[in-house]
Amino acid sequence: MPRLHLVTTGGTIASRVDPRTGAAVPAVRAEELVAEVPALGKIAELAVTEFCLESSWNLGPERVASLARAVRDLQASPEVAGVVVTHGTDTLEETAFALDLLLDGDTPVVLTGAMRDASTAGGDGPRNLVSAARVAVDPAARGLGVLAVMNDEIHAARYVMKTHTTALGTFASPGAGPLGAIDGEGVRFHARPARTPPLPLAPPAPRVYLVKMAAGMDDLLLRALLDARADGVVIEGSGAGNVCGSWEGAIGDLVQAGIPVVLSSRCPGGRVTPTYGAPGGGRRLRDLGVIAAGALSGPKARLALMFALGAGLDAAALRAYLARFAG
Ligand code: ASP
Repeated sequence: MPRLHLVTTGGTIASRVDPRTGAAVPAVRAEELVAEVPALGKIAELAVTEFCLESSWNLGPERVASLARAVRDLQASPEVAGVVVTHGTDTLEETAFALDLLLDGDTPVVLTGAMRDASTAGGDGPRNLVSAARVAVDPAARGLGVLAVMNDEIHAARYVMKTHTTALGTFASPGAGPLGAIDGEGVRFHARPARTPPLPLAPPAPRVYLVKMAAGMDDLLLRALLDARADGVVIEGSGAGNVCGSWEGAIGDLVQAGIPVVLSSRCPGGRVTPTYGAPGGGRRLRDLGVIAAGALSGPKARLALMFALGAGLDAAALRAYLARFAG
């Protein structure tokens, strides 16, 4: 049987309702998680590491960098056929994407989680774990980059997004679609994701902030980031990448101060394009020196910027690197 390494981090898949408060909290230890899903033993020989027991909104890029180091070591072991990482669904797409930026090996790395906690009827955790394990040991998953498996769909880290607060079918890849599916017969891929060469695994630049545009907002947040000498700023603009016209001055000042300003879109699908010439329009932002983040969402563009700055990319290299995310 293939060897599968399971790395647990917490999230709903490892949560139970605390009877004293009525609120779900991460509580299921790694060994217990595995013991509750005997079907895993039919798929692979299992080894388990508990990386942490956290809610995913409390896992930041620093922790994810150390998770990447742990997973990289597992990928380097020739006995390990695949790695599954269990994770809270709230920021699963961020961790999956950061791992995808940093990991090089062909050994499949599959993130999964659950929308219903272990104490809720109809929990989806065991099924997702089994499906993720099947994908992780499937030779067709090799070399596809980091994957997310939920609700019997396979998504690329680069495109996957949580789209619903509670639905089991919450994960989608807007504008790209899933890479494949799992059914009673097995694992089936019908697409391959675009890949980007890995970044050196260095500590991420910590002070990179995401500002979401809404019509009529003034430039207060951007000015505050300039005053605070942020490491970088990511803007989630409207449509193809446009912002309030009143932001142009602050954006120009940030760029002049040597603070990279990266532009993504608040639309879930599609890439940013320098189309519009009215104040705040994407063409004017490009001319101010703003760097386009292709089709990356704001949170993913932020991770790309944090890890690229951490790896020492200068402004030109940063621009060329982010241009690779156009599709
Ligand atoms: N709601 C989350 C989940 O589905 C909790 C988390 O992200 O930690 O796992």
